[in-house]
Amino acid sequence: MPDAVKWEPTACPVCRCADAGEFLRAPGDDGKEYRLAKCRACELVFLDPRPTEDTVGLLYTEDYPQYRGSKLKNGPLRRLRAKLFGHRERSLADRIPVVPGGALLDYGCGAGHFVAQMRDRGWNAFGMDFSPHAVQSAKESYGVRAVCGTLPHPDVPPNSLDALTLRMVLEHVHDPAALLRHALVALKPGGALCVAVPNLAAWGFGAFGKAWFPLRLPWHLSHFTPDTLARTVRASGFEVETVATKGHTNWTGYSVRRARELNPKWWTPFARVRLVRSALSKWTERRGAGDELCLLARKPLRAALEVPMRRAA
Ligand SMILES: [Zn+2]
Repeated sequence: MPDAVKWEPTACPVCRCADAGEFLRAPGDDGKEYRLAKCRACELVFLDPRPTEDTVGLLYTEDYPQYRGSKLKNGPLRRLRAKLFGHRERSLADRIPVVPGGALLDYGCGAGHFVAQMRDRGWNAFGMDFSPHAVQSAKESYGVRAVCGTLPHPDVPPNSLDALTLRMVLEHVHDPAALLRHALVALKPGGALCVAVPNLAAWGFGAFGKAWFPLRLPWHLSHFTPDTLARTVRASGFEVETVATKGHTNWTGYSVRRARELNPKWWTPFARVRLVRSALSKWTERRGAGDELCLLARKPLRAALEVPMRRAA
């Protein structure tokens, strides 16, 4: 980790309650130990202490995996492998009903593959990321429109979007509720919000514990369950339509690799076999306990006069 990152103790990032108990101590990807706390009011699990907002950018170096474009992503080898070993995953893109020509913003677009995917489905899609590396990579790898920055942004007027996607974003930001409120403003009435975050209520977290790959410490500041995510989104003024989970064969593989060192169980060697991991991932998804949470919500057609600002209902 870059030395200049500064750390601060924090209250709950969603409801601001200062009363939290220790939830877990787990090693980060850098081998250092980090502490997760659980809010006694809204039950959110969060990193405490956490990197300060003005130094957290130092954790996102050019080689942060999500910033690297990959031509292989949809290559023939990958497709063949998916056909042979993968299960037909219902992707996030499938969950958002297409509005042909509708404006879709992928916020935190990384290297831009999802923007390209949504463009190819008929959306007028564009991306936004606070990393100039990511924006550059999105333009070069996929030729998509991408802007550098955060919401609110001059390129995104209020009531202008038909859909906004937050894929693996909410767990990274210091104030998730504030970002959701900016999203609410940017969307048209009836516009769709699609959120994907790791699922702390997943079978995988129960099984792998501190070795569970999607903890991604110290990058992930908030760790959501279906309940805490839905409450946070609702409290920001949205109507929640569906909450589903998705299994990840690859994430299970990374968790297994970490578990061999951190938290070995008798069955971890079996889970190294890709077919076993694929079956596990299917099974967890069917039970609603997959590693990823996908939530679809709408901006109400008639916005409530006053949106509750802080405390999750
Ligand atoms: Zn809270």
